[in-house]
Amino acid sequence: MSKQITVTTPLLPDLDDFSEMLKEVWASRWITNNGQFHQRLESALCEYLKVPYISLFTNGTLPLLTALQALRISGEVITTPYSFVATTHSIWWNGIKPVFVDIDPTNCGMDPDCIEAAITPRTTAIMPVHCYGKPCDIIRIQQIADKYGLKVIYDAAHAFGVEVNGKSILEYGDLSTLSFHATKVFTTIEGGAMIMHDKATKERIDYLKNFGFESETEVIAPGINSKMDEVRAVYGLLNLRQVDAAIEARHKVAIKYRSALKNVKGIRYFNDMPGVKHNYSYFPIFVNADEYGMTRDELYDTMRENGVFGRRYFYPLISTFSTYRGLPSASPDNLPNATRVANEVICLPMHHQLSDNDVNRILSLIVR
Ligand SMILES: *Cc1c(COP(=O)(O)O)cnc(C)c1O
Repeated sequence: MSKQITVTTPLLPDLDDFSEMLKEVWASRWITNNGQFHQRLESALCEYLKVPYISLFTNGTLPLLTALQALRISGEVITTPYSFVATTHSIWWNGIKPVFVDIDPTNCGMDPDCIEAAITPRTTAIMPVHCYGKPCDIIRIQQIADKYGLKVIYDAAHAFGVEVNGKSILEYGDLSTLSFHATKVFTTIEGGAMIMHDKATKERIDYLKNFGFESETEVIAPGINSKMDEVRAVYGLLNLRQVDAAIEARHKVAIKYRSALKNVKGIRYFNDMPGVKHNYSYFPIFVNADEYGMTRDELYDTMRENGVFGRRYFYPLISTFSTYRGLPSASPDNLPNATRVANEVICLPMHHQLSDNDVNRILSLIVR
């Protein structure tokens, strides 16, 4: 039996470099609470991502929760069912009603044409996702938000390093969040961040992620604990040195996939978008069973039987989970594109260590 090929593999720093830097942490006896490596990682990320301010978090879910708190969002938030559950959970945990709208199948992001019809007097914000790191229709979403006085919080968990016309995707909306989970392009094992546009907001967010402490004796708001520690900050600093090479290796895999899948009837995939710097965080394919002659699940199972582990991101839709399925906006009639795409998608293995052999083996199961 040939070796198993998993959908991803974590970006691991060199162990000697890691232990070398950890010696400094040990020597300092400062292992959490905005230590020197935490501060260094924040500045290094600002530079790498071309953003003015960033706050590190302990994962990618808590910045979503905290963003909604910081902007004092209430009532209803318009969001997408085609995402990882954390997106909708963050809305629910704030006592806010999620309102699902359909996606545009050409980028799997929120369809701007569906937003206005979902706005009610209780709507206060829009929470879209740059799914697979592909930019949402950022211009039209902002136009709608401005027209109705709504905030925009982007779940940019997939969009590390993505740029549109030389500008970071993270500059759009009121706030954006990142995840540095082990499965993501850039990782600190568990980790995440929030990106904001001004210093006052960063200060407020930094208080909120540390229980609301403004000083030793003053608590200014009901905060949470979501601080990143020094060990993971070191892990992140070292990974930042190799993330460009990892993205380039992913890009090469994407090129191979595309050239082999170009003439396969019934398989759709994404090409690069003009003006966009992509991060190749995922490689979704969409199986049209009638044209391909096999259903998505038949192909998915065939791959698994042959040791190739794709993932059906995002199936099932968040709107089908028990907590959410009773919401009027969760009805499949309201979400025809998301429902179809969820039934067609397989994310092929995509990471920096896939060899030509691996890619050929994967493709041999798809190109028949
Ligand atoms: C990974 C992910 C998250 C959550 O990130 P964690 O770091 O695992 O908490 C949120 N949203 C999306 C779209 C994700 O893919």
